[in-house]
Amino acid sequence: MAVPIQIHPLVKSSQGPRDSYGRAMNYLRISLTDRCNFRCVYCMPAVGMQFQPRDELLTDDELVRLVGLFVQLGVNKIRLTGGEPTVRPHLVDIIRRIKSFDGVDEISMTTNALILSRNAWALKEAGLDRINVSIDTLDPDKFRMMTRGGRLDLVWEGIKAADAAGMSPIKLNTVVLKDHNEHDVHKMAELTLDHDWHVRFLEIMPMEGVGIVYDEGLVTSAETQANLEQHFGALEPIETHPSDPARLWKIPGAKGSIGFISPISAPFCDACNRVRLTADGKLRLCLIRPDEVDFRDMMRAGATDEEILRHLRAGIWRKPWGHRVHEGDRETVRGMSQIGG
Ligand code: SAM
Ligand code: SF4
Repeated sequence: MAVPIQIHPLVKSSQGPRDSYGRAMNYLRISLTDRCNFRCVYCMPAVGMQFQPRDELLTDDELVRLVGLFVQLGVNKIRLTGGEPTVRPHLVDIIRRIKSFDGVDEISMTTNALILSRNAWALKEAGLDRINVSIDTLDPDKFRMMTRGGRLDLVWEGIKAADAAGMSPIKLNTVVLKDHNEHDVHKMAELTLDHDWHVRFLEIMPMEGVGIVYDEGLVTSAETQANLEQHFGALEPIETHPSDPARLWKIPGAKGSIGFISPISAPFCDACNRVRLTADGKLRLCLIRPDEVDFRDMMRAGATDEEILRHLRAGIWRKPWGHRVHEGDRETVRGMSQIGG
């Protein structure tokens, strides 16, 4: 594919290890587990989902060691995700250990918030700065259908607990799907009128196991924006940091903002500053390309820190550019819950 290779200046000048295009990677997303207490229709297939045996996942010590090495290379922003990160044992302790590394400026977490109200304060106190909560509708019945069994009231308690604990600004992620929640987006957007929250609408990606949901359900950001503007009138654009995948807008007079994340209709490879670590210890270089480098077996074979650092640098150098999902090209070999969205 003939892609214009132009790196956003801020991503070029940022700290962190570089890929061969000159993009600096200062942001690491860590999948803490491939397990989850929901089965969202756009993330997991209805049947046949396989979870990895626990001994194939990184132990706490392996995980913290690897993260420390990423930080030595210049990574300063970390997001915990999954699967559902709140079901990972010892989460509070893992956060405390990661936050203790010199050079970690921010730890955030993406969660479905189902059990967040139990320990929001403890997570905040351990060093968790911010959360993103996935919530696709405010209709409890549709919510139960989209998550295949999830309870909206508990999720709402989790959001309130995180807000009260000071994990701000709260970001809410909504994957918009045809025939599911496409007509609920204005209710989600209305939350920004009275709350200083960011409500972000995501285009579905055709990850492993949900190809048909993508084929039948994709709603582009432009369609969602048109839908919202029919309801609220023209949205006002807000300036956005280039490495933020969301393009930001607001309803005039609202306290919070509305974001559109458009990996399909407007890929943001030029400003990509992130790499991923899967729960089984693979460096995943791009969400929708299959390139991975294994670190679990390297660590278990006794690799020194210097050897691991060398392989991390070499792996990041190989980070790919661009995808052709919008042209029907599906390269991915794992589901979103396995990679860490
Ligand atoms: N369980 C947590 C949650 O749902 O927030 C964290 C993991 S989940 C995989 C991370 C994010 O990926 C969520 O915001 C979810 O909505 C999004 N996601 C999952 N599958 C997706 C897909 N096929 N396309 C786009 N976003 C997806
Ligand atoms: Fe679980 Fe998050 Fe995937 Fe939903 S999107 S099934 S909550 S990992």
